[in-house]
Amino acid sequence: MLSHDGKSLQSTLTLALRNYSTSHYIALLIEVITIDKQLLHKKIAHFNALVGDLSSQWLSRCPTTEDFTFTTEQFQVSLSSRLMIPVPSFVSGSKCPCKKENGPFGIHLTSRCNKDGSLHRIHDAVLGTISQAGKHFGYKVELEVNQLLNANDSNNHKRPDIKITNWPGGEIVIDLAISNPISISTDLSLNAANDPDRLLRKRSQQKISKNRQQVEATGARFEALVIGTTGLITDSSMKLLEVLCGKSSGNINTNKARFQRTIYHYWLSRISFALQKTIASEILEKTVKINGDQYNSQSANYRLVTNIDILREMAR
Ligand SMILES: [Zn+2]
Repeated sequence: MLSHDGKSLQSTLTLALRNYSTSHYIALLIEVITIDKQLLHKKIAHFNALVGDLSSQWLSRCPTTEDFTFTTEQFQVSLSSRLMIPVPSFVSGSKCPCKKENGPFGIHLTSRCNKDGSLHRIHDAVLGTISQAGKHFGYKVELEVNQLLNANDSNNHKRPDIKITNWPGGEIVIDLAISNPISISTDLSLNAANDPDRLLRKRSQQKISKNRQQVEATGARFEALVIGTTGLITDSSMKLLEVLCGKSSGNINTNKARFQRTIYHYWLSRISFALQKTIASEILEKTVKINGDQYNSQSANYRLVTNIDILREMAR
């Protein structure tokens, strides 16, 4: 049934994942993880954070065209991250160059540590795709509007990411944050685990406190766009993307509206894909630096077996 061709395996696994409901998985976790309550709460928070278009559209598109295909290694890391199971490229117990533990799930490397600039690269990949989407819909997008804010303040390293001069209702400045919805180092109650965008809202508030007043003094509007590493997104951020990616608000049954909807979902998929692919690639790059090259010819069979194992695990 399973082809040894990487693409067929990706097709099979993405279909299985799409058919696998979050609530079913959480019910299984509660049954299986009986002792380590913190691990259970963090896993529940993680699965609750796998909702919305940006968290799932990469699965609907993968693998289709070249733009929507992972390498085998990236795909394996993306699946492991989504299922919150140990990332297979890690050597257990290894430490990051920042001296902290990597942990088994790759969370440290992509959401807490910016030792080698991974967080910037993930952020910039998503920002680049968002900017492309805006330009596709005729928005005049300018990147990095630092000149607006505290031009004389050398301590001001945080620059809002984009300015769009022809936004409906007037000029807007948007700052993007990619944030992990789970804090791996702090304890999490069951209530907090069931409120998955808690940390994203907090991050959004921080950005607003930092920038809104100053931006508004220039006559523009300021908004934070906060996307979780799982693809979870705050309501206000989703509204921004709906405008930016041309979501149709007209009659949903006309041909024009159907066409617009297709284009809108195409761009959401591009953003979703850019996020997951860059996270996977950053995890791989860092593990190669930390653990040495795990991906030589000797480990090729091991990789395939692990993918099939994931599928078997899910089919139970
Ligand atoms: Zn680190």
